Amino acid sequence: MKVIVNATVVTPHGLINDGTVWIEQGRIVCCGAARELPPPPADAELVDAEGLYVAPGFVDIHCHGGGGHWSYENPAAFARFHLKYGTTSILPTFSYNETEEQIIEGLRKVLQAQADIEAYGRAIAGIHMEGPYINPKYGAITSPIRPVNPAEYRKILDMAGEQIKVWTLAPELEGQQLFMEEASRHGIAFSVGHSEAAAETVLDSVRHGLRIGCHCTNASGTTPSPSRYAGTREVGVDEAVLLSDDIYAEVIADREGRHVRPLMLQFILKAKGVDKVIIITDAMDGTGTKDASVDVNLIEKNEFSPPQEADYMLGGSLLTMDRAAYNMKVHTGADIVDLFKMAALNPAKVIGIDHETGSVEAGKRANLLFVTEDIQIRKVFLDGEVVHIYNR
Ligand SMILES: [Zn+2]
Repeated sequence: MKVIVNATVVTPHGLINDGTVWIEQGRIVCCGAARELPPPPADAELVDAEGLYVAPGFVDIHCHGGGGHWSYENPAAFARFHLKYGTTSILPTFSYNETEEQIIEGLRKVLQAQADIEAYGRAIAGIHMEGPYINPKYGAITSPIRPVNPAEYRKILDMAGEQIKVWTLAPELEGQQLFMEEASRHGIAFSVGHSEAAAETVLDSVRHGLRIGCHCTNASGTTPSPSRYAGTREVGVDEAVLLSDDIYAEVIADREGRHVRPLMLQFILKAKGVDKVIIITDAMDGTGTKDASVDVNLIEKNEFSPPQEADYMLGGSLLTMDRAAYNMKVHTGADIVDLFKMAALNPAKVIGIDHETGSVEAGKRANLLFVTEDIQIRKVFLDGEVVHIYNR
């Protein structure tokens, strides 16, 4: 048995001062204030947290790459990279930029990496398909975006249906209704993104399993309605996401406030409440290999780009979850308990793994972090095993 002592434990119900966490066979046996628990068994290995916060490992449900790797090309190295920054459950995220052949090959690699439990397969919690059936008007790079194709999605579902946890789509496209009916049999949480569906269409999709607003206020639009008058603000995808209690809102909190301005982050948090916001990275392959002083990934405009003055547009981020959570704290003032709800428990809930991970609670996997108040990672545990120590 391992017993973490001298910790401030971050739980969904608040902080536990002078806390301890007991770990056996990779799982949390119990946690609580030292004075309320019996002394640790004499043969237990004591791990001194030195007063740091002990928090749940991050769950990132939207992440394309990192450490120089695309998630679908080298999933094990990708998972290993993000593990160092505290992400103990990750969904390798395909985008709308891959061809069918690339998707099939990528799925094969991810499934194989996931099965390798001795390596970092245990940190791969499933798969996120961000497309390819999105609205080309809202894509960063648009070439292989394609209409809904039953032959293609059935092949994907047959191959990896049980492991696909999130599928991002534009509900306004033809064929989406049938797609959602078929894919929902695999328990997939649908995410509305790269879309300009009418708010009514978004809300109606909840009954098919729509649960997520993909990177809220990024790459989403509105359908002009006939009732629109000058000076009247139209409602669209984001407003529907903000309105529905059944839909979680993903946010990319970069330090520059480029994806979501701090005021908008505050607004989203206020509208959704802390139990319905999910912090994501939407990280690209160059994360960790490029200039660490910026969080956004800029790409050159293309013919579909929205009219704007800049020559570049946003193409995901260079974030890791520790930085994203810290930025959320800076931009919204959220406290550490709420940050870990948004960065661990809520995403675990929406993909149905919260009975296993997402919070520091008895019975769950001992996926734990030692962190400072500013979410700097000091130690990472995966299933009770130390997999990373920050070298000061
Ligand atoms: Zn993405």
